[in-house]
Amino acid sequence: MFNLILFGPPGSGKGTQSEKLIAKYGLKHLSTGDLLRSEIAGKTELGLKAKSFMDAGQLVPDAVVIGMVDAAISANKGVNGFLFDGFPRTKAQAEALDDLLRSHATEIHVVLALDVPEEELIQRMIGRAKTSGRTDDADPEVQKKRISVYRNETLAVADHYNAFNKVVHLNGLGTVDEIFSLLCKEIDSRQ
Ligand code: ADP
Repeated sequence: MFNLILFGPPGSGKGTQSEKLIAKYGLKHLSTGDLLRSEIAGKTELGLKAKSFMDAGQLVPDAVVIGMVDAAISANKGVNGFLFDGFPRTKAQAEALDDLLRSHATEIHVVLALDVPEEELIQRMIGRAKTSGRTDDADPEVQKKRISVYRNETLAVADHYNAFNKVVHLNGLGTVDEIFSLLCKEIDSRQ
């Protein structure tokens, strides 16, 4: 198995690049944002609980997200590997993920981090709001909140994996294809 985390702030291009990477490498895409949005669309209890956090730009509680990822990993035995997108977002989630993968006799092989300046993130969220219908992209206060949550809680995930020398930083500014080829180079050198 080959498991990677695509890491970066909201609006850094993780979703776009994930689609291309799963097509090329046959990985299972595990986006907690997508999983949560489909729970909301299905009006499940979990979705109803998550929605208020997401609309406010806050993190959904760790236990909820970890339970969802646990179920998704167990439901996808036999895949080539997982591409984690938008998860882990806290140190507790990273530790839980390491434990989960260990229980399936595997691990995170690399964390590819997309570096994008904050001004650009805001511009991209504004652009995305026009077509995505995502309420959390449209509101400037929510955008700021999500970036500050990233700084205060999610950057610790990079520190966690950095201690194991698993983090590679890449320039997230450029065309979609330029960034995709940077990502592929890193993956190819590890497979
Ligand atoms: P983006 O990458 O643009 O921030 P996502 O689709 O990954 O968008 O996440 C949207 C929202 O869903 C987050 O702001 C948060 O409220 C919630 N969410 C997604 N993943 C997680 C997670 N791993 N832990 C907690 N909340 C999450």
